[in-house]
Amino acid sequence: MTGTSGPQPAKDAGTAYTTFTGWIDRPADLAAPLDTNISCDVAVVGGGLGGMAIALRLAEQGVDVVLLESDFCGYGASSRNAGQLSGKPTGEPQILAKVNPRLLRDLVRFAEGSVQFAEDMIKQLGIDCEYEPVGNVGVAATARQLRKARRDARALIAAGASERVGDHRELGLPDTFLGGVLTTVGGTMNPGMFTLGVRAALLRSGVRVFEQSPVQSVTDIGAGAQVSTPLGRVRAKRVVLANNAFAPEIGITPKHLAKPVWVSMIETAPVDAERIAATGWTSRSGLATKHHVMESYHVTPANTIAVGVRRLQVGKHPLTDRTSDPVVVADLTAAFRARFPSLADVAITKTWGGWIAMTTSRLPVAGQVSKNVYYTIGCNGHGLGQAPYLGALLADHLVTDEIHHDLIPFWRTESRFARSLYLHNPVLRAAWLADRIGDRRAAR
Ligand SMILES: Cc1cc2nc3c(=O)[nH]c(=O)nc-3n(C[C@H](O)[C@H](O)[C@H](O)COP(=O)(O)OP(=O)(O)OC[C@H]3O[C@@H](n4cnc5c(N)ncnc54)[C@H](O)[C@@H]3O)c2cc1C
Repeated sequence: MTGTSGPQPAKDAGTAYTTFTGWIDRPADLAAPLDTNISCDVAVVGGGLGGMAIALRLAEQGVDVVLLESDFCGYGASSRNAGQLSGKPTGEPQILAKVNPRLLRDLVRFAEGSVQFAEDMIKQLGIDCEYEPVGNVGVAATARQLRKARRDARALIAAGASERVGDHRELGLPDTFLGGVLTTVGGTMNPGMFTLGVRAALLRSGVRVFEQSPVQSVTDIGAGAQVSTPLGRVRAKRVVLANNAFAPEIGITPKHLAKPVWVSMIETAPVDAERIAATGWTSRSGLATKHHVMESYHVTPANTIAVGVRRLQVGKHPLTDRTSDPVVVADLTAAFRARFPSLADVAITKTWGGWIAMTTSRLPVAGQVSKNVYYTIGCNGHGLGQAPYLGALLADHLVTDEIHHDLIPFWRTESRFARSLYLHNPVLRAAWLADRIGDRRAAR
């Protein structure tokens, strides 16, 4: 699986390729694996931000919870992402405004609620994750993108979103962009530090956490559910699957719920703050371009620039640890040099990536697959705030049996989803090509 073709470019010797995240080091205090048979009220499978938020919320309400994580809590996408906590909803706002304006309003409220939820976690758990509430901007690299951004913004503002339209000067953007739309809620952070902060809170809580404990199967046995790992089993009244891109590897997961997609990141060496400001990027807001497949830019407090996405690569189960593809690293580097021509001398020091679960609708899903087995999966590229928020809403449902209004748009009970028509490498490659043709036309 690569999703790229043609000859592989040579790796730049100055760029470190890692199968781990670039944001943090691996924690040294791993919890022991499950090596016996135990029972509990709720077993959570997967310790990303989603799974950890479920476990914490249940424990706060006095529920006896066990969390099983195959590596360490935070090992997945949660510690690897671009660090942009965005309050902008997923989807096509102009279409939704016409066909389902109520859903658009619900998505706006959910997206902004998820930012508030993550900010509250940072505050209440006392997490130092270099969070800067500078908002995120959907930036236009072409006139066509700017027109679309403005039309999208009109639909979003009418649905209650906190958006502000402006040109590159008004929004303090790099002057290679024409302008964009600032989502004023949210900002940027070090997602690795955020995830480790949540993990620390989890380890202090009453939750029984077993790391290095890959779940092999989940079986609904009517009077509860049984979860098997290589060295022990959990008998739980209820089980929640929160293992994101890996979920289809457990048989009980609804068919075609999501596809695993590899997303890559690169990070530059530190740059003088004056040189960054001289590009026009004075707001230091997170940036995501309006291409079919976005490019993302995040300037860190150390003045490194993290650049991500641009090419998506669909993977096959079972998913394995992997590094970025050199073709994609070269492409992300080309993007960085094009958007920041005055920083052409700045080295790319590292690259990493992670698996996300992408759904056909591009919306997250949460639901019930059998009497005692639930799931929350597939926050696509928006899970930094959405995965923990959705997790907490699902936890509340398990306690109260009620479905919060922010959970309703994502709630599913089917055991099978429609296959995706566009989540295939040739289609994603065509989208990338269309983006490059648009870039080239705009440069003429
Ligand atoms: C490169 C990249 C950039 C991104 N950028 C952004 C961004 O800027 N903003 C944003 O909002 N979102 C972004 N995302 C998406 C976001 O990171 C995810 O949506 C979010 O982290 C999902 O959280 P999660 O808890 O559902 O899954 P994960 O964090 O993937 O957690 C799943 C956990 O389950 C564990 N697991 C898997 N299988 C098993 C098993 N069998 N047994 C036990 N445990 C298991 C894994 O080890 C992992 O720890 C990005 C993602 C990537 C990869």
